[in-house]
Amino acid sequence: MEKSSSVSIVKCERYSDCFKYVKEAVDMLGGIEKFVKKGDRVVIKPNLVSRKDPDEAATTHPEIVKAVSRLALDAGGIVTIAESPGGPYSAAMLKSVYSGCGMDKAAEEAGVTLNYDTSFSDVQLPNGVTVKSLAVIDPILNADVIISLPKLKTHAMTSYTGAVKNLFGVVPGTHKAELHFRLNERAAFCSMLVDLCEFVKPTLSIMDGVWGMEGNGPTAGHNRYIGLVMASANPFALDLTASRIIGYEPCEVDTVKQSLERGLTPPEPEILGEDVEKLIIKDFAKPESHFNLLQLLSLPPSFNAAVTNALASRPSVNADICVGCGECMRCCPPKAITMKNGRPEIDRSKCIKCFCCQELCPKKAMEIKRPLLNRLMLKILK
Ligand code: SF4
Ligand code: SF4
Repeated sequence: MEKSSSVSIVKCERYSDCFKYVKEAVDMLGGIEKFVKKGDRVVIKPNLVSRKDPDEAATTHPEIVKAVSRLALDAGGIVTIAESPGGPYSAAMLKSVYSGCGMDKAAEEAGVTLNYDTSFSDVQLPNGVTVKSLAVIDPILNADVIISLPKLKTHAMTSYTGAVKNLFGVVPGTHKAELHFRLNERAAFCSMLVDLCEFVKPTLSIMDGVWGMEGNGPTAGHNRYIGLVMASANPFALDLTASRIIGYEPCEVDTVKQSLERGLTPPEPEILGEDVEKLIIKDFAKPESHFNLLQLLSLPPSFNAAVTNALASRPSVNADICVGCGECMRCCPPKAITMKNGRPEIDRSKCIKCFCCQELCPKKAMEIKRPLLNRLMLKILK
C-alpha cells in the first residue's frame, strides 16, 4: 500500500504538556494503532547528535521522546530508544549521550528500554543512486516499526536537518566519517542521505519543532521558538513542509530538492491542521555556510575548483573558547586537524568542509567563517 504523504501540523507551546499535541498530530494521520500493532518491536530514533542539554535545542527533547514512547506502548509495542551519535559507537558513549540529553530519565519514566547493543551489519541498497551498500545499526534492522523523531534545525553542511538527515544516525560511529570523506561534495552527500532514508523507510516521523535551532546548527546555533509538532508517514513530505516553515525554498536544501526530483514527495503534500502560509518564519537565520556564492552567480560548481575553494565558508577555531579537548581532531574525516600546543590547527588543503568539527565541538569553539571576498561579494549581490 502506498504510504500517505499527508503532514499534520499542531501548535505546541510547551514541552511539559506535549503529549496531547503529539497524540493529536498522530491522530490526524489515523492514530498510533495505524502504525504500531500489538507485539511490534518499535525503535524510536531521536536526534541525539552529541551530549547536549535539552535546553540547548540541539537534540530531540526528552518530553517528546517520552510522549511518543507512551503512545507506542499504549498501542502494544515493545519500545526501544536507539541512536548512533557522532563519535565512536560504544556503550560508554551511548551512556554519556543518553544521560546528557535526558534520555535515561525519559526512558525510565515512560517504561521503555535504551539500546546499548552496538552491533551493526552491512546492508545492500540495490536501488541507491549514490550508495549501493552501507553499515546500519542492528536495532534498526531488527525493528518492525521505526519512529524517527527529528529536530527542526539548520545545519552547516546540509543547510537544514530534519527527518531525512536524522537517519544518518543509524550509521554506526566511524562509518559516518568514512561517508563524509568519500562523499565530500554536498549534493552527493545529500543523495546518500536520500538513499539511506529510502532504505530505512521510517514508519512514522514526528518532528520536535517546539524549540528549534537557527544559525550555525546543528549544535552551534541559537535556540528559536517555533511552537510546533509535525508528523508524517512520509519523511520527505515532512522535510519539504518543515524546511519551508523556516524559510527555505526547496531548491536550497539538497535532500528536499533531490526527493522532489526522485518523486518521493508530492510538491504540495496534503497539510492537516495549521496553515503553513501563516507559520513561515521569514527571518529564521541560516548557517554562515548556506549562501553559496557560485550558485548566486549561476556558475556551474565545476567552473573553477580553486575559486570555489577560495570562496567557501570554512571552520575556524575561536581560541578564547577552545579548551583543547581534541574532539575536533578525533572526528575530522580526512584528518585535517592536528593539535599544536593544546589547540587545533586546520590544514586547509585537506579540509573537505563537512563541519563535523563544528558539530561535535562541545564548547562551540569551532566557528564557521566566510572569507572576506565571499562576504564582500555577497553584500553586493544581495
Ligand atoms: S573540539 Fe572544540 S574545544 Fe575541543 S579542541 Fe576542538 S575546537 Fe577546541
Ligand atoms: S576540519 Fe572540520 S570541516 Fe574540515 S574536514 Fe575536518 S571536520 Fe570537516
